[in-house]
Amino acid sequence: MRDVIVAANWKMHTTPADAGALAATIAGRTQVAGVTRVICPPFVALAAVRDALAAVDTSVEVGAQTVHHELAGAYTGEIAAPMLIGLASWVIVGHSERRRDAGETDALIGRKLGRAIDAGLRPILCVGEQLEDREAGRATEVVDAQIRGAFAEVDPNVAADARLVIAYEPVWAIGTGRTATGADAAAMADAIRTSLSAVGWPDGAADVPILYGGSVTSANIGEFLAEPAIDGALVGGASLKPDEMAGIVARAGITAAARGSVLNGDTDGQGG
Ligand code: PEP
Repeated sequence: MRDVIVAANWKMHTTPADAGALAATIAGRTQVAGVTRVICPPFVALAAVRDALAAVDTSVEVGAQTVHHELAGAYTGEIAAPMLIGLASWVIVGHSERRRDAGETDALIGRKLGRAIDAGLRPILCVGEQLEDREAGRATEVVDAQIRGAFAEVDPNVAADARLVIAYEPVWAIGTGRTATGADAAAMADAIRTSLSAVGWPDGAADVPILYGGSVTSANIGEFLAEPAIDGALVGGASLKPDEMAGIVARAGITAAARGSVLNGDTDGQGG
C-alpha cells in the first residue's frame, strides 16, 4: 500500500527568524498516524526548520524546493544536491514555477532528478499541463512528454529505489483558487502510471505515490483523497497556515487509516 504524504511548499515565504516557529506549530497541529509530513522551506530557512523540528517532532521531514543539475562548479547562486545532505532529506524537482521562471526543461529536470537521487534525497517530481493544453484535450500528452523527457536522463529502476514521488499539478490550478476535479486528478494519476510504465518503471508503477497539487485546502482535500489513485497533496499557499495544515493532514489520516485497515485484512476499512 502506498504512503500517504502531505508536502508543504513554502515557496519564497518565511525567513530563518520565523520559519522554525512556524514549522514547530505545524508539527504540533498535524500529529496524525500514518501520514508522511514534509516541509519544504526556502534554502536559507532549511537549518532553522531542521533544528526546530528536531526539538519537537522528528517525524516531520524537511525538503528543499529545487536543486542544481551539476554536483559543483561555477554556478553563482546555485545549490548542489550534496550541499543539502544534513539539511534536507527530500527535494521538489520540476515545479511549474521553476519551469516558468528559470526556464527548466524536461531534460534539465531529469538531470536534477539524477543528482538528487545520487545524494540520497527523496524527490518529488512535479508535472502538469497548462490550461490551453487541458482545453485542447492534450493534458495526458503533455504530462507524458514531461515524464519521458525526465526519464531520458534517469534510470527508472534507480528512481524506483529512491522512492520517487510524483506531484500532478495542473499549472492553471496553482495559486489560483481553481482546482481540478477529483475524478480528473485520478485520471491523470492513472495516465502518469501508464507513462512511468512506458519508460520502464517496474511493476506498472503501482507503488509510486502520486500527489495532487493546485490550490489544495482543508475544504477540498477530501475530494482528492477520496480517489484511490491519489496518495496525498503538495500544498502551497495553505501550507503556511497551521489551521489549514491541521485540516489537510487530519483528512489524510483518514485515508491512511482506511488503507492500513485494508492492509490488515479489514476489508470494510472500518478498523477492528
Ligand atoms: C505548489 O506550490 O505546488 C502549489 C500547488 O501551490 P498552491 O497550493 O498555492 O496552489
